[in-house]
Amino acid sequence: LIGTINGMIARLEGSFKRMAEFTADASHELKTPLCALRGEAELLLSKERAIGEYQEGMAHFIERFDHLNRMVNDLILLSKSDSSQVELNLVPLRLDLLVQDVANLFQVLAEQKNIGLNIDSRREMTVMGDKMRLQQLFTNLIDNAVKFTPDGGSIRIRAERDGDFAKVEVVDTGMGIPKEGHENIFNRFYRVDKSRSRETGGAGLGLSIADWIVRAHHGTIEVESELNRGSIFTVSLP
Ligand code: ADP
Repeated sequence: LIGTINGMIARLEGSFKRMAEFTADASHELKTPLCALRGEAELLLSKERAIGEYQEGMAHFIERFDHLNRMVNDLILLSKSDSSQVELNLVPLRLDLLVQDVANLFQVLAEQKNIGLNIDSRREMTVMGDKMRLQQLFTNLIDNAVKFTPDGGSIRIRAERDGDFAKVEVVDTGMGIPKEGHENIFNRFYRVDKSRSRETGGAGLGLSIADWIVRAHHGTIEVESELNRGSIFTVSLP
């Protein structure tokens, strides 16, 4: 009995600690861009400027607000998932077609970066899944592949059956993730190198959401990656 109670207290302590860290990280991640935006607005108002400059400033603010809005939505989703408030709408769906549809949305973006985006999914695969969440999962993975692959690289998306599992691999020839990052990559707010995300504007939440979606579907997600060689993200769903 003492052992069980001690175990329970340790688990509770762990989860309080994680909650406190999450709140501190979230506040910091929101505070930094808000302070920066305030400074930029002050600068814009500090003297009289041409109308074009104000328009440019406002367009920039809208872009930054959209980014903050996305981050807040991600945070709400993650905190709801912690308290099991997100219900999945599970229906039988064709994963091969879903992956193709999501990948097709990225063709233009990939073309702009001169990245070849190939989709290899020939077999029919049906899973019990929540369509919106699975779209979000593959959007996050393919978006990262495009973001972190330099111009002229290539991305391959392979969907195939693996026994009773549907396996989807997102393979890129991008900048890769160093070994020490592999175990942290699915943690909230983790970014390999904050400077590499500065241009791309990510907050390090995409993969934590991907991880939650996969676990909620009783699947697994794994990463294999080598710095400057590329990454493979493999999702297996029952
Ligand atoms: P972000 O919003 O920053 O992309 P993610 O949680 O999706 O957040 O990813 C966390 C970090 O993992 C990224 O900032 C990036 O450093 C690294 N990463 C993710 N996917 C890839 C990839 N395909 N290639 C290289 N690095 C990646």
